[in-house]
Amino acid sequence: MKFNALNPTHIEHLQAMVASDRFSAGDSVLDLHARDQSSHPPHRPEAVIWPNSAAEVAEILKYANANLIPLTGWGSGSSLEGNPIPLKGGLVLDFSRMNRILAIRQEDFQADVQPGVVYQDLNEKLKHTGLFFPPDPGARATLGGMIANNASGTRTIYYGSTKDYVLKLSVALANGEIIELGTRASKTSSGYDLIRLFVGSEGTLGVVVGATVRLAGLPAEYSAAIANFPSIATAGKAVFEIMRGGLNPAALELLGPECVELMNREANLDLAVRPTIFMEFHGATTRQLAEILQMAAEICGEQGCHGFKPGLGRSERDRIFQARHDLGEMIVRNHPEERIKVMDVAVPISAYPELIDAINAEIAGTDLVTYYISHAGNGNVHLNILCQKGDHKLWGLIEEIVDRLVEKTLELGGTATGEHGIGLGKRKYMVAEHGASLQWMRQIKAVFDPNGILNPGKIFPS
Ligand SMILES: Cc1cc2nc3c(=O)[nH]c(=O)nc-3n(C[C@H](O)[C@H](O)[C@H](O)COP(=O)(O)OP(=O)(O)OC[C@H]3O[C@@H](n4cnc5c(N)ncnc54)[C@H](O)[C@@H]3O)c2cc1C
Repeated sequence: MKFNALNPTHIEHLQAMVASDRFSAGDSVLDLHARDQSSHPPHRPEAVIWPNSAAEVAEILKYANANLIPLTGWGSGSSLEGNPIPLKGGLVLDFSRMNRILAIRQEDFQADVQPGVVYQDLNEKLKHTGLFFPPDPGARATLGGMIANNASGTRTIYYGSTKDYVLKLSVALANGEIIELGTRASKTSSGYDLIRLFVGSEGTLGVVVGATVRLAGLPAEYSAAIANFPSIATAGKAVFEIMRGGLNPAALELLGPECVELMNREANLDLAVRPTIFMEFHGATTRQLAEILQMAAEICGEQGCHGFKPGLGRSERDRIFQARHDLGEMIVRNHPEERIKVMDVAVPISAYPELIDAINAEIAGTDLVTYYISHAGNGNVHLNILCQKGDHKLWGLIEEIVDRLVEKTLELGGTATGEHGIGLGKRKYMVAEHGASLQWMRQIKAVFDPNGILNPGKIFPS
């Protein structure tokens, strides 16, 4: 696709569409919108606009489409695969001013939101209603960014990912048309499911300008436990057995000892520095949860668990899960001189122990510094691998290791990305993962965005 660079006439037109404080081509603003939280090289847009209504977004899109100006949506920029990096320059639409919660309908378990609402703010607002929005990526992400990436989190094993919570979507298309998708009914079998098409499309098919999301009731009772293991491999087997046993955890996270050591240091915790499973169960009665915890303890014991600590109180549980959420940022903060490769593979749960064996086989005998972080109940592994900045040879070797692990993951029936999306870094795996259906994805892209202005350079291998 050939795009036009912004010229003075474009800038004049675009500036006239929004208030003067909502358009900028200043250096610091462009720099702030040039990179996400990944290690992909930055690329600046030519201008940033902060729309404050769906109508404004539609008008900007119509103009950008007619003038072949690339346009990329921006939530919080917390992606980990270069998803919002404006690779071809052009415009970034920053949704931080469209951050209103428009309605909360407690009786229907629903909320209407603008795309720039941050999910923690939504949950804060819901605190006194007994309801919450379950998907919980570690960063302060917006609903628009979560919908575009189909984000997940520690609770996905029980509550599902963002795609399971979108009932209605308002989408501005490349031609400036706004379409309304879905209904407020909790189920439907009416027509093609266009919502699922837009969720996870990383802003390449349309721009989310509003959503109705489903909410869940806060659990009546919960219980949390920590289990330590002699190795990641034995912990992985325990994860599989807990899932196979139908214990239905609300969170089942596995961390390597290096992560636990970092969390102890940074969050003032006092956990045993060993491969560790954090688990949580939600239920109606404490008695039911006590029985489940007893079964989990037995399963862990059979896999050589060193220490099983059940019945964590609310404050200890919250401190541990907060540290778990902050772990990604802790790693970045503690390694300012390193570039970090974050793997995001996911396999069916029965293959989880085999994936761990494959990772161990790749890492054993190398000097690589790694952090093993896993939404284990979903078979989703984020191996973080560190590389001294500027060491291109080592980075190449790390890429080869990750390529081999993705290949193994696909053999096991898994995916190259459990939750971070394709962005820039995973485009190379699209053919291997999707085969002939990739061609149908390209055709869908051409239907919605014939000029290719929406977040160009993403998802599809060039
Ligand atoms: C420390 C840390 C931990 C993380 N943990 C997790 C995790 O556990 N699970 C997980 O899933 N992710 C995780 N992430 C990744 C990230 O937080 C999620 O992908 C999140 O959904 C991105 O939201 P955002 O608002 O920052 O979107 P951005 O990064 O700004 O954008 C994401 C994508 O959405 C597009 N976009 C933004 N707004 C719109 C819109 N209104 N319409 C259409 N397209 C739009 C962008 O162009 C881009 O392609 C983590 C990130 C960090 C830094």
